[in-house]
Amino acid sequence: MAVAGSARASPPSAARDSHGSLPPEAGGAMSRSVVQARGQGGQVGGPAFEFAYTPPASPGLKAIYKRVRDADLWRQVPELQAIDGMFALPRPLRFVTTECGEFGAFYHPEDTEVVLCYETLRTLYERGQAHQKALGLGDDHPLHYVRANVRFIVLHETGHALVDLLDLPVTGRHEDAVDQLATILMLRFAGLDETPDEVVENLRLAANWMLSDSTGAYDLDAYADEHALGEQRYFNLQCLIYGTDPDGFAGMVKANQLTAARAAGCAREMRSASRAWVRLLVPYLAPGYEAYGVEAARYLQRSG
Ligand SMILES: [Zn+2]
Repeated sequence: MAVAGSARASPPSAARDSHGSLPPEAGGAMSRSVVQARGQGGQVGGPAFEFAYTPPASPGLKAIYKRVRDADLWRQVPELQAIDGMFALPRPLRFVTTECGEFGAFYHPEDTEVVLCYETLRTLYERGQAHQKALGLGDDHPLHYVRANVRFIVLHETGHALVDLLDLPVTGRHEDAVDQLATILMLRFAGLDETPDEVVENLRLAANWMLSDSTGAYDLDAYADEHALGEQRYFNLQCLIYGTDPDGFAGMVKANQLTAARAAGCAREMRSASRAWVRLLVPYLAPGYEAYGVEAARYLQRSG
């Protein structure tokens, strides 16, 4: 379940037009829309998420703790805020930042808890600094890098939580399935002030992170791992991004960010993943979220 040292990934961008919604014929994913209000019609929705920040014991992590606590990190994840209360969960899901003694993020079913480690934030920041230097980017890049990846990582773990709490069926690797969900959520529920290009950029930074441990040489443990190899997660994510708008992202193939052979099926892959997640989750919409059910029905009809 854990996002192990190498990859967590991210995906696609669907929204390419300036209004932030996908052309119906191009969209593999559900378009962004203005249906964002929590619990319409006076209903309160499902159990609200709970957010917490645990003080670390290690002095070296205290500055990070203070920073995320003061910034109220959990409430800065737009996708998390958008789906808070949306589903009829059997019990509240809790999100906690904590010292783990290792890099990672986890979903703990026994505590109904998503854990984000301070060590992860530290490593992401360092990686963002390296990325900034390598590409000559601005001073704000490391933080931007951290934010984009935290979103993907947290949504990946939230995917594990939804599978557990709603007892959703999954065939194939759970890790791949929740990577797809994280991608779809980032495409659908990005902040309303974010442009489609910014949404894509966030996903690309998550894809970049997947390659951070890339060596091209792996041992048996890597091949046997529950996660696909970082390079595979990277290309899976690139494929989902491309699949939302093959014409708009034709440059990805030219730039060797995706092979032509894989690209040919990416629109279908994106549509398939998006339709599957919509069909799995819609039955669990909480009272007050019926508008999403209507939107989902239209989407399924249109993309079928
Ligand atoms: Zn996972």
